[in-house]
Amino acid sequence: MAVPADSEGAAPDSPPAELQPKTARWTAPGDWALAAELLWDGEATLHGHCVVVRGDRILAVCSVEEATEAGLAVEQHRGCLLPGLIDAHVHMEFSEHFPLHEQPRLAAKQLREAMADRAERMVRSGITTARDLGGRNFAALGLRDDIREGKVKGPRLLCAGQPLTAPKGHCHQWGGEAGSVPEALAVVDRQVAHGVDWVKVMATGGMRTPGTDVEEAAFSTQLLTEVVQKASAHERPVAAHAHGAKGVVAAVKAGCRTVEHCTWIAKAGQWGCVDDQTVEEMARRGVAVAPTAHANWRFKPMGERNFDRMALALQRLKGAGVPLLASSDAGAIPGLPHDALAGGIEVLAHMARMSPVEALSAATRRSAEVLGLGQECGRLAPGLSADLLLVDGDPTRDLHVLQWPILVVAAGRRVVPVVQPPPKPQTARPHRTRARH
Ligand SMILES: [Zn+2]
Repeated sequence: MAVPADSEGAAPDSPPAELQPKTARWTAPGDWALAAELLWDGEATLHGHCVVVRGDRILAVCSVEEATEAGLAVEQHRGCLLPGLIDAHVHMEFSEHFPLHEQPRLAAKQLREAMADRAERMVRSGITTARDLGGRNFAALGLRDDIREGKVKGPRLLCAGQPLTAPKGHCHQWGGEAGSVPEALAVVDRQVAHGVDWVKVMATGGMRTPGTDVEEAAFSTQLLTEVVQKASAHERPVAAHAHGAKGVVAAVKAGCRTVEHCTWIAKAGQWGCVDDQTVEEMARRGVAVAPTAHANWRFKPMGERNFDRMALALQRLKGAGVPLLASSDAGAIPGLPHDALAGGIEVLAHMARMSPVEALSAATRRSAEVLGLGQECGRLAPGLSADLLLVDGDPTRDLHVLQWPILVVAAGRRVVPVVQPPPKPQTARPHRTRARH
């Protein structure tokens, strides 16, 4: 049986170990068990094992034999059982059918329905957690609470409310503008008062807000430092949107927990102008990067040359030990559905030269740790949320099988996937992304 490997302060004889199935009495009515040919628990691959679920939690990860001896009817499946996926950067409020700043103004009820629909599609595709990095009217927070209360099917959400931005800065239309330290701190206070989980700052301009500069820092290091301190006093980590190196440097020095995009744009639009000193500082300070390498990057919308330069930048970050997180930016990218994370994981693996297991970790365990959810999800271990994804194949060898979930369980509730598994592939498949050699 697996017990939490790195649970803080958990001694080997703490509660999860007591769940060891020594007798037939460790299960209770209502417990149920799922087994697959293969189980990847976030770290190791296990054969002949199952996950036992009680309510919304994982009760045990044990051998099928142990579960059967304890009187459970173990449901056996083909394929692989793994932790539900995490998208570290989405925008639930926005539709992929419109450019970011041309979104229709919907009535509250319509907006709620549209967001609930996106959330359901996400969870049906295997995404059981997502971090929402901003919108204009705190709508994602209501969705988060509805999902938590079981009123809406969807992934567990962490929400950032209105991003803090410079006057006329990136996404200033959303209401988080500040031109001075007191104004910036007031924006942070307002987000916290609305119940955000993260604070988001726009440390540079953005490609989708005309008139902003992606290469220059939007805020001084001093202002960002005060923002991080303020957020931290409220126990909120800070995520910094940053393209150009100057914005990345300011965000890292200020103590931001994650850098979003991190495209290192400089020299009139050239991507991947990596600042080595900053990369080392990121590794030293434990800053993670959500590069928003999404499924449609396979079409290289930034151009062949910038795609290759970004790939090298990601390899440089990975080589230095900076955690890279599976992240799509869905909602901000026209044409990218909210449920396309699986394709993005393949793109990220290809660009950063990650092994399938490294990429899976970037979408599960590693991401949960960075997002502060290491004791809640991201692994299959006793005591954690029962967030399970069953896919038709072995994703530790071929990430493409993530495209076909057979079953998704979110916080102990079964969700039927949208896409039924295709017949076992015999030949090469379209859009398959392989690591280069
Ligand atoms: Zn975004």
